[in-house]
Amino acid sequence: MKIDLHAHSTASDGTESPAELVAAAKVAGLSTIAITDHDTTAGWDEAVEAAIHEGIDLVRGIEISCSRDYRSIHLLGYLPDPDDPRLAIELARARDSRVSRMDRMVQRMADDGIPITVEEVRAQVAPGATLGRPHLADALVVSGVVPDRDEAFRDLLHDGSKYYVGHYAPDPVAAISLVRGAGGVPVLAHPFAMRTATISDDMVEELAAVGLAGLEAHHRDHEPADVERAVRLAERHDLVITGSSDYHGTGKLNRLGEFTTEPRQWSRIVEQSHGVKVVQP
Ligand code: AMP
Ligand code: FE
Ligand code: FE
Ligand code: ZN
Repeated sequence: MKIDLHAHSTASDGTESPAELVAAAKVAGLSTIAITDHDTTAGWDEAVEAAIHEGIDLVRGIEISCSRDYRSIHLLGYLPDPDDPRLAIELARARDSRVSRMDRMVQRMADDGIPITVEEVRAQVAPGATLGRPHLADALVVSGVVPDRDEAFRDLLHDGSKYYVGHYAPDPVAAISLVRGAGGVPVLAHPFAMRTATISDDMVEELAAVGLAGLEAHHRDHEPADVERAVRLAERHDLVITGSSDYHGTGKLNRLGEFTTEPRQWSRIVEQSHGVKVVQP
């Protein structure tokens, strides 16, 4: 069994449609793939159809952008009920706030003489998808301002950039409660990645006490010391340990299946869920 519990489609900032993502997971030899788009479940239905067609297990999930003290924290939610009103309203609020945030980022760039418009960014986004900085990066590539997404982030779009504008995002404690309330299972995504670098041992303890189920230990953005730390904390607080690719199609170097989750750890997640079922064709 090869289980990859973190991947993005064009429903957020991946470059492959949900059906293409599922097909790519099959080609990569995975037995189980999770679709975890940022702040949306919009890709789920297409992914389910594709999973049935391809004969691969599909985990319906989300990756919720959270924030605390102006730092970004990502929370994966597995198998929540997408119609849970509290969860649905909060995700919609986050997506709405991403629209005005993008307008402001584009305005700051245009004011500085960078040739970019909101329409050009819009052209990079699939209908109904969660708008994000990667779409702005893609528009900057099309305009010839930068050669690729990576350089766009390095030069212009990183969190410390003068063009950076935040968007509404819940505190992780609230997000954990929303995921649990919808019958889902919350796992911290890449908790010790440099990009976030905000999660202390104390915060893991705090979040474990309010229902956090696991830590994504094995991830491209973790150094060996980060993995060790995650495993140690998971043992201390009885948390599940996952590993995943965080695949974004051609939008990032991450390859499907480059990190995977042990079947025993995965069953601990499934056992805790009572939102939607794993699709097992
Ligand atoms: P946002 O949620 O709109 O603030 O954008 C954050 C997203 O940008 C993350 O989910 C990553 O997928 C993506 N991202 C961050 N850094 C990079 C990078 N260097 N290259 C490509 N994508 C990135
Ligand atoms: Fe992303
Ligand atoms: Fe993430
Ligand atoms: Zn992700």
